[in-house]
Amino acid sequence: MRFSSDRKIALMTIICSLLLCTGSFAQTPYLLNDTTIIHRLDKQVDVFIDSTNRLLLEQISKPEFQKHFHRRGNLTFGYLKSSLWLKIKTKTYSPHTNWYLEIPAPFIEYVDFYQLEGERWYHSAAGYYRKHSVREIPHTGHVLPLQFNKEDSISTVYIHITGNSPKTFPVLAIEKEKFHEQVRWEDVGYGIFFGILLVMFFYNLFIYFSLHQGNYLLYICTIICTFFIFSSASGYGGKFLWPEQPVMNFYAGRLSLAIITVFLSIFTIRFLEVRKYSLVMYFILLSLLPLAIVAALLIVTGTLYSAGNNLITLSTLVYMATGIVCRIKGNKTANFFIAAWTIYLTGGLLLTLRNSGVFDFNFWTTHFAEIGATMETVIIALALADRYRKLRKEKEEAQREALLLQQNATEKLEEKVKERTEQLSRANQELNITLETNRIQTNMIEKKNAELDAFFYRISHDLKGPISTSLGLSFLARKEIKDELALEYIDRQQQLSERLNHIITGLINLTKLNHTDLKKEKIDFIKLVDECIESSRSLPHFNAITFTKDIQNNIEFHSEWTLLNAIIQNLIENAVKYSGPVSPFVKITVRCQGEWVTIDVQDNGQGIPDEHQSKIFEMFYRATQNSNGTGLGLYILKRSVDRLKGTIEMKSKLGTGSVFTVKLPSMMEDTPVTH
Ligand code: ADP
Repeated sequence: MRFSSDRKIALMTIICSLLLCTGSFAQTPYLLNDTTIIHRLDKQVDVFIDSTNRLLLEQISKPEFQKHFHRRGNLTFGYLKSSLWLKIKTKTYSPHTNWYLEIPAPFIEYVDFYQLEGERWYHSAAGYYRKHSVREIPHTGHVLPLQFNKEDSISTVYIHITGNSPKTFPVLAIEKEKFHEQVRWEDVGYGIFFGILLVMFFYNLFIYFSLHQGNYLLYICTIICTFFIFSSASGYGGKFLWPEQPVMNFYAGRLSLAIITVFLSIFTIRFLEVRKYSLVMYFILLSLLPLAIVAALLIVTGTLYSAGNNLITLSTLVYMATGIVCRIKGNKTANFFIAAWTIYLTGGLLLTLRNSGVFDFNFWTTHFAEIGATMETVIIALALADRYRKLRKEKEEAQREALLLQQNATEKLEEKVKERTEQLSRANQELNITLETNRIQTNMIEKKNAELDAFFYRISHDLKGPISTSLGLSFLARKEIKDELALEYIDRQQQLSERLNHIITGLINLTKLNHTDLKKEKIDFIKLVDECIESSRSLPHFNAITFTKDIQNNIEFHSEWTLLNAIIQNLIENAVKYSGPVSPFVKITVRCQGEWVTIDVQDNGQGIPDEHQSKIFEMFYRATQNSNGTGLGLYILKRSVDRLKGTIEMKSKLGTGSVFTVKLPSMMEDTPVTH
């Protein structure tokens, strides 16, 4: 109440009495007779625009002031900064009917009704920035129950309207019951509107939780902002959510306008894939984000109250333009977007034109924004659902293709496996046949070899006698013959006979190899090696050679003495035969590891040229043609090592020397002996 002190009240009473006496309300009162209709009083209202914003009731109600009031025929003042004084006079013939005077514009910040009751002015406060509890009738609009003078049934009211909001509104007179019926319809309408927002909120929340796609979350945020914008603009927020905090009416709506710009811009970028379709629109949308922050700051600091409204007007145009650009560039989802924003923009446009006074204050200019917001919310939700449907379809198709590919691959794999299995079984059969053939061939070869061995053995034995005789005869002849030339012939004959004898002995040994039973015994390697060295004594150069023995102690090894002896002796003889001229040496090393024994015979002799090394173990192969060797030694040696189930390896370098390594397993008591 502005009349706080007693002094002021007293003064007011005197002034009022004076006013009444002078008949300040000479205008014809509007007759309220029909209770079934809503009486629009715009044309019956006298208006005074107070550009000083300072005049008080005491001043404007003076009789001499009344000439400043004018009847305009409408109440569309648009964004008028000055405060307004309205003067309304009504009359009724049924004193028991209750009439309400209503200004159905929730956004008007301060509304002060002054009604003459008896002899004093009664004050009733309302307004967007006032607590709900001060209102006489709790409603989103500003309502005053009319009091009629008992004598002349006339009601006299001054209304003082102040604030920055647009001053375009109607003034209505409604019978009480009709008013409540009207309120019920409004409640139903807004109930549907907020209900749709709520449904959309939960619907998108549900999809977000099942898909985890940011678009849905952004959209939910825009729904929350829309809810705050419209609940505060419609007055329902003030009526039900924050009746005692009118400051919320200021912040909830205006700040939400700035915040929604942030969410809508990001949502638009993602939803329409703007970056892909238009870089220019993408950057324009991005630039709305800092603008939104600036707008929010301007609102909070009270610098520019309308910053949110201006920003949303600009943003809406940008969203619409983005939709059109993306559609032109081939984005079909933009259709939904354009449709949604067209409706929303139309609502916004109607509202702006109404507020600025171009259009009248009626249902469509007032509520089309809400209808537009509802439709926009639903259309975008449908678009999101459509996108989700498309995504799911694409995913299903991809899965189906992947499944087909997998099936094909499996089928091909099965075919391949089948093919390979058949190939394998064929190869197996062939292998079996080959193995069988090989076995038969081996048997035949073994049989042939045995026959050959027997043949060689007989021939060798048959030749051995005459050769020995020939050697003996040449020995005797050497004693008798004195002639030099004859002696030379005899020597050559003796050499040839000796060579022949070597070959025959070698062949006899070879044929014997497979036909002699192997006798196992513990091998004393020191004794064995000494024997072998001793047997080589007759060889030329023997005395020039330095022999080194490196034999491991206590070797527990069982094998065939004669064969082992022949192997080691052959290696030592070759090492002596092919020794080098400078400090020749022969080193024999014997090592034992578990069941295996390794014998190395190393020399620093002539070595074997690389090209001969692979053939050195072949029968009659000789790397050195000028020696009087037979090329049988290493061949028989290899056969002997095979017989003892061992291996032989050779490493040699021309001019540096050779090392022959024989590896043999110990012949255990139960080792089967092969023939
Ligand atoms: P041969 O009776 O010719 O010595 P072998 O079978 O024992 O027959 O040797 C085959 C050939 O291997 C020899 O002619 C010789 O050229 C070469 N050879 C064998 N042992 C050695 C060695 N220790 N150093 C160099 N050459 C060797």
